[in-house]
Amino acid sequence: MNTVMEPPMANAAGDYIGQIFNLVKAKNPAEPEFHQAVLEVFESLRLVLERHPEYQEAKILERITEPERVLMFRVPWFDDKGKAQVNRGFRIEMNSAIGPYKGGLRFHPSVNLGILKFLAFEQVFKNSLTTLPMGGGKGGSDFDPKGKSDNEVMRFCQSFMSELYRHIGPDTDVPAGDIGVGGREIGFLFGQYKRLANEFTGVLTGKGLAWGGSLIRPEATGYGAVYFAEEMLKTRKESLEGKLCVVSGSGNVSQYTIEKLLNLGAKPVTVSDSDGAIYDADGIDRDKLAWVMDLKNHRRGRIKEYTDKFKKAVYQPIDKKLDHNWLWNIKADCAFPSATQNEINAKDAANLIKNGVKVVSEGANMPCTLEATRMFVDAKVLYGPGKAANAGGVATSGLEMSQNSMRLSWTREEVDDRLHKIMISIHKACHETAEQYGTPGNYVNGANIAGFLKVANSMLDQGLV
Ligand code: NAP
Repeated sequence: MNTVMEPPMANAAGDYIGQIFNLVKAKNPAEPEFHQAVLEVFESLRLVLERHPEYQEAKILERITEPERVLMFRVPWFDDKGKAQVNRGFRIEMNSAIGPYKGGLRFHPSVNLGILKFLAFEQVFKNSLTTLPMGGGKGGSDFDPKGKSDNEVMRFCQSFMSELYRHIGPDTDVPAGDIGVGGREIGFLFGQYKRLANEFTGVLTGKGLAWGGSLIRPEATGYGAVYFAEEMLKTRKESLEGKLCVVSGSGNVSQYTIEKLLNLGAKPVTVSDSDGAIYDADGIDRDKLAWVMDLKNHRRGRIKEYTDKFKKAVYQPIDKKLDHNWLWNIKADCAFPSATQNEINAKDAANLIKNGVKVVSEGANMPCTLEATRMFVDAKVLYGPGKAANAGGVATSGLEMSQNSMRLSWTREEVDDRLHKIMISIHKACHETAEQYGTPGNYVNGANIAGFLKVANSMLDQGLV
């Protein structure tokens, strides 16, 4: 966890932002990830408030950091032994200024209110960047699907939806997947929603193809993070062809990041899970990727098994006593953190920079600590923050919503083409906004400011609500 949490600002806008940040910390104690996400955005907004005092007058910062609604509920369910289990469910409806709340559900034992608030806050700006009309939300539970039978997962999902269904709807709040919530979980959640609401609507995205899902939605976040990296490289007249890439995680985002990297002629050499990482110097080719997908999506095994099958690869278990992660010390041109928040700390960033990394494109949400983020920006690494680089997932969810509303399905090529164009336009917006605010090449400022302006102006238009 990053410890550098003081806003480094010294002017009137900086003073105001510092005050509001202290208020956010005081009102939301013990939520360090939420504080971190807010501070990263606030650092960029200093540049905006210097030019636009009207946002301060309308208390936009105070309002944008306060969720419109927070739902927290009990989720009781029976395990396979007939024993009662109890988890906690959440939905954060953060901001609906530009559209219905939209954002994923995360099922992981680490889930708590602060983590979901950071994710919901990020989602507001990300969704704004997609160019589609979607507000921001996030939800989930401390339930761990790992090691549970399909029936246990189904009973949990049905109990979770028995409360959530009354708060969501295709024009109100449209959840999707995230860590621990894939096609299986979305299926069980959708089934229970349909049963309780007695309607078949696009209330969730990431649905199965036969019942309202969109082609390319599973691929979208990973593909999008790679498209974003390609756009950043183009600004330096380079491409991904032949580039050595380190990728973390082995779930949805990682798998399709690797697939698109292979399509574009790059060489991915790593995958990981929460127990450890694999380094395959020969490269993870299509056959090896298919094996990883089967391991993770069907057999639900651990990444360590990779070395049983591919003997030349190396496995390194995570060592929590170390001050750095082994994976980020492998020499590479590009890094695609695609597992979880704060997986790259200052030491990891130093290792990547020392080894000559050119691009960091964040498939995961807030995978870099604030210190690491600042180090990449200062070192002029092409650094694509998650709210821009991984926006392809929610953008394609938006395309799924459009197809559901029109009751038709686009082809794979059509959705991929739209996704690609959206990623190009997000890159352009971030790049141009960073320049307009005097920090060329700083995609953090570009993403935060471009995402903020649309939401803040909509809030001004809609009055004090
Ligand atoms: P996923 O399919 O559940 O995969 C998550 C991967 O990250 C797994 O390999 C998991 O390992 C690993 N992981 C999870 N927690 C970890 C931890 N504390 N330390 C180390 N590794 C950990 O989830 P996903 O959908 O790919 O999501 C990955 C990241 O992308 C998240 O930050 C998510 O918020 C972000 N994201 C996802 C989407 C989307 O469309 N899915 C969109 C935008 C952003 P284990 O198997 O050991 O848990």
